[in-house]
Amino acid sequence: MDNSRIADRLDAFASLLELADANPYSARAYRRAAELIRGAIVPVAELVRTGRARDLRGIGPGIEARLRELVETGEIAELAELERELSPGLVGLGRYLGLGAKRSIDIARALDVRTADELREAAAAGRLRSVAGIGPKTEARLLEALAREAEPRPQRGLLLSDARELVGGIATALDGEPAGDVRRWRDVCELLAVVCAAADPASVPARFTELPQIVAVVEQGERRAVGVTVEGVPVELVATEPERFGTALMRATGAPAYVAALEPLPDAPDEDAVYRALGLPWCPPELREQPFRGAPPALLEPAAIRGDLHCHTTWSDGRASVEEMGRAARERGYEYLAICDHTPAVGAVRGLTGDEIRRQAEEIAAANELLAPFRVLRGTECDILADGRLDLPDDVLAELDWVQASVHGGQRMPRRELTKRVEEALRNPYVRCLSHPTGRIINRRPENALDLDRVFAVALEERVALEVNGLTPRLDLRGEHVRDALKAGVQIVCSTDAHSVRGLANMAFSVHTARRGWATPADVLNTRPLQSILDGRRAVH
Ligand SMILES: [Zn+2]
Ligand SMILES: [Zn+2]
Repeated sequence: MDNSRIADRLDAFASLLELADANPYSARAYRRAAELIRGAIVPVAELVRTGRARDLRGIGPGIEARLRELVETGEIAELAELERELSPGLVGLGRYLGLGAKRSIDIARALDVRTADELREAAAAGRLRSVAGIGPKTEARLLEALAREAEPRPQRGLLLSDARELVGGIATALDGEPAGDVRRWRDVCELLAVVCAAADPASVPARFTELPQIVAVVEQGERRAVGVTVEGVPVELVATEPERFGTALMRATGAPAYVAALEPLPDAPDEDAVYRALGLPWCPPELREQPFRGAPPALLEPAAIRGDLHCHTTWSDGRASVEEMGRAARERGYEYLAICDHTPAVGAVRGLTGDEIRRQAEEIAAANELLAPFRVLRGTECDILADGRLDLPDDVLAELDWVQASVHGGQRMPRRELTKRVEEALRNPYVRCLSHPTGRIINRRPENALDLDRVFAVALEERVALEVNGLTPRLDLRGEHVRDALKAGVQIVCSTDAHSVRGLANMAFSVHTARRGWATPADVLNTRPLQSILDGRRAVH
């Protein structure tokens, strides 16, 4: 048994333990062990046989015993039993219907069903009501949910990054194209769709339902299927002949109101041809939210971004050093990167005092010697205190190349106080940009009460830019707000708020969110060269 097979079984064990709501610590321990074994250079089966498994760091006696069982018998008995009992298909379907994993399993046990299909049969036969805790109302809701056909939606929207990974993986496996909300880079994704062109479209749904990502099937037709993931997220598949691919892609991309206004769509092999036949210029998917027949502007492109103005390092809560972040930004083809670690008032994580920011300057200068002509900028993500003052003294801010101001604590302040607090901070002559203005965390925290129109007016007066934060739980400002800001004449900055080298890749999320707000390169401060960023420091003049 090789390392990757052992690791796969441990991973499967971890997933099933999670589904069974077992001790979350043990699920994590199995996952960590799987990762360790997958990366091990020595054959782990050999270590197990010679009683040396615990030489691997992180393998305790419990996991060692499982490993011995797996290597000696080829299986872990408890894992096999869990797999029999907890059908991922049942769990996925249950979650899609709004039931927790544990509740799905309880119902499955009570009805003695093992698969999603058996659950549907039992429901159709009216047996749901025989389960303790399911009354006529719940039964009706479940039956209705099982039967609903049009536009299946998840119980709650997915983060754009998760949705792109899911839909992208399915599209790649079927040689199709991602469509739906993901293709429009919507901030919260509900309609997940993949479109496939095939000479024999009827063969595609079967391949789709057999993908490992799809654990149960909600609908299956000749050219369309809806499957759900183990998380209960529905994904739609559309299969079509190559001659109609453009039309199918456009319909599956949406938004429904945009497409409806252009119907009837002519059949065409690609979208360009559909638009041509309609007598319209091609429209970027990000702009297809509302009915629109005009000529779209030349939107911001990722390649126009010259630098990232918001990232963290190990000085606060980042995972990479100043030099590592700078080097990675240079490799992305940027001219500059602003290091914006937190200040002390942020509370939850480490923040830098004025003295520490000055010590960090030495490290930044050393990195600049190595990386020139690339430039690491001295910056800060400075907390806006409850009274609108900033968390660093002006003489420290005056030394910096770039100052972001952020509200972290006190997001729930009433509208007037919060707006006054932010306005006060924007009046500080060293502040260049307001970070994540609405403070929302998707699915966790609503937008704050900030009066954005007032903030736009003050930002314009004070020549402060507003951030489009590219962390996918934030995407703040969101598209609609970007559009309002640009109409008010305010500049935006596309930033990643990266906390690691990998995080620098979030720029795509920021750029496409800005595009949803109709941003052109001229609207975006960090499409400008380094000198223009440095010259923008107001207090220097
Ligand atoms: Zn922040
Ligand atoms: Zn940050």
